Amino acid sequence: MERSFAREVESLRLGAGEVFHGEGILAITKGLLQAGVSYVGGYQGAPVSHLLDVMVQARPLMDELGVKVEACSNEASAAALLGASIHYPVRGAVTWKSIVGTNVASDAVSNLSSPGVTGGALIIVGEDYGEGASVIQERSLAFALKSTLCLFDPRPEHGRMVDLVEKAFELSEASNMPAMMQLRIRACHVRGTFTCRDNVAPAISQKHPFDEPAGFDYAKLPHPPATFRQEKLKGEARITAARTFIAEHALNDVIEARAQAQTAGIGIIVQGGLYNTLMGALVQCGLADAFGASDVALLVLNVTCPLVPAQIEAFCRARDAVLVVEEGQPEFIEQEIATILRRAGIDTALHGKDVLPQAGEYNVEIVAAGIARVVAEHVSAHDLSPVRNWLAGNEERRAAVAARFDDGLPARPPGFCIGCPERPVFSALKQVQERIGRVHVAADIGCHSFATFEPFSSGHTILGYGMSLASAGGVGPMMTRRTLAIMGDGGFWHNGLLSGVQSALFNRDDTVLLILKNGYTSATGTQEILSSPDDAVQSLEVTRVKPGDNVDARRIASDNRSHGDRSIEDTLTGMGVRWLKTVYTYDVDAMMDALTDAFTTETPGLKVIVGEGECQLERQRRVKPLQAARLKAGKRTQRVKYGVDENTCSGDHSCIRLSGCPTLTLKDADDPLKVDPVVTITEGCVGCGLCGSNAHAATLCPSFYRIEVTQNPTRWDRWRSWMTTTSAARAARGARDAA
Ligand code: SF4
Ligand code: SF4
Repeated sequence: MERSFAREVESLRLGAGEVFHGEGILAITKGLLQAGVSYVGGYQGAPVSHLLDVMVQARPLMDELGVKVEACSNEASAAALLGASIHYPVRGAVTWKSIVGTNVASDAVSNLSSPGVTGGALIIVGEDYGEGASVIQERSLAFALKSTLCLFDPRPEHGRMVDLVEKAFELSEASNMPAMMQLRIRACHVRGTFTCRDNVAPAISQKHPFDEPAGFDYAKLPHPPATFRQEKLKGEARITAARTFIAEHALNDVIEARAQAQTAGIGIIVQGGLYNTLMGALVQCGLADAFGASDVALLVLNVTCPLVPAQIEAFCRARDAVLVVEEGQPEFIEQEIATILRRAGIDTALHGKDVLPQAGEYNVEIVAAGIARVVAEHVSAHDLSPVRNWLAGNEERRAAVAARFDDGLPARPPGFCIGCPERPVFSALKQVQERIGRVHVAADIGCHSFATFEPFSSGHTILGYGMSLASAGGVGPMMTRRTLAIMGDGGFWHNGLLSGVQSALFNRDDTVLLILKNGYTSATGTQEILSSPDDAVQSLEVTRVKPGDNVDARRIASDNRSHGDRSIEDTLTGMGVRWLKTVYTYDVDAMMDALTDAFTTETPGLKVIVGEGECQLERQRRVKPLQAARLKAGKRTQRVKYGVDENTCSGDHSCIRLSGCPTLTLKDADDPLKVDPVVTITEGCVGCGLCGSNAHAATLCPSFYRIEVTQNPTRWDRWRSWMTTTSAARAARGARDAA
């Protein structure tokens, strides 16, 4: 059961004249349908996950239009999908998260861009850069430059973004270059409106297929000698055609300064995606109003590759000084502009990274500081005191807050969800290392990477999605103890199976692989994968492994083949893995035993532990409606939660150091003789059972207790409750009398 996008799917059906309202990434998705796309694919990842999720859930609409939707196993397979547009005049779009996804896809992207395309090919990448990013900070522009792609970085205004989607297909067809559109985090999530056009059913599609394949054409293969001609075509024909199209269709926005503005001699060239930030900065500098009127001229680059030299020359020739606002490094755009100006003999002063930071996200404050420096140098008459006071005030406030903390502001790293099935595994790993000594841990991409933060601080390296086992190959032979590679089931299917398992088996690596099978690609929004639970099973709560199940129920769950016929275990044994154990992740004792066994067994070769426990986020989505329905129907419903007896809590907090569950926290003790805070469990506890399991495995103080909350109790429940309460009261009275 994935998140439902029913409302978003409906917005894809809007027709001409109707008004769309919603997030930027959904506007782009609608734009694809309005542009007559024939096929769509991709691999999920923030901030563009919704695009594919919505398309997948909109299958009835896609089938009506004839649009093929492919949820690809990774970005490389998504990029390869665009091969359909090499020979055929069909429009295709794929999506993934950049920069990591573009790295994975880059082989296919190179082989696509060398022969070039006939139909429009568009790659929509989520540029995961800046404060909210979760990946390495690099630029997609580097790929566009090296593979000769057109790169769009649209101004985040819904109407303009949707318009540019269509223009991206046209540009791709006019130049034979694949186009890429980078969408920053804020552009994806900015909410806005635009007036729709009708969706266009593609002329050629799965509903209207070709009768015959294209004829053989060696020039469309990325093989020598064709590649030598293709290289020339890129530089001599395709980029020239692209520049002509960009200029003729005014894809970049030129905004002139207000008449008689003192600062009219200054121009700013900005990446389209940074337009809103720039306008905020200009307002702070007293150089623009809230409606977009500016006292400096702006060249908004909705297309950052290729640049159009004639446009750059014309813009700069008319100004005394130009500031290039370009986020990230190196400053490719600024360097190219410098070359254009030098070749044209234009001596306009050029600013960019000399007044703006080399790296990091450009926010309003940073850009305003850069603009103020440029204005101060070139227009002495403009009063900059308001923006200077504002910047200084911000600095003072930050310094005042920092001064209240000896070690600076406390970090707030992300962590596992409450009740996550992966948390117990790292509790077990922490305790196992007390037994056998510390081991090298090759970590991976996925929710389990939260274990790299406190209280686990587990993981020496992360080399990419599904790459943990491969990354353990080098270090393993140099360790006296076996190394541990950890990956999720999402990472296993994305890349780990081939890059890791196959290689480890082939090279007879003596390594331990721990696969966390939570049933979904959880970290990217809980998308389904090949081994996701069957729909039929999802609706039957009792047949899934879940916290609080007794041993029999767990056995039923594992016997039930709830992961269909395509189990990870069958795949591994089929490939030749001989040491394989499946362990219920919430059973800390069993996980510790399995890990100890894997690290100490005489059996050579790859040893795999599959940790099974359903993603708690998905489980709650599945279970809550079922529970609500039972409650509404007046049926007996039971849920489990844990508590801590503060009279017993010794106050050493080792349970917190072994768990990290956010609902396990501290409070002042009611007992005046206890000076240290005691542990308490808040209402958020979902009763996953880890607290009890840890208390048992690590022999902690016996302060934890388990509560079964029964709603709509039966007569038997009421009688049992009465008996328990009465006996407890009697026992307490007896103890008091004896005292
Ligand atoms: S999304 Fe699922 S797997 Fe990820 S941290 Fe939350 S519960 Fe754990
Ligand atoms: S049982 Fe413990 S670890 Fe599980 S949700 Fe409750 S407090 Fe958190």
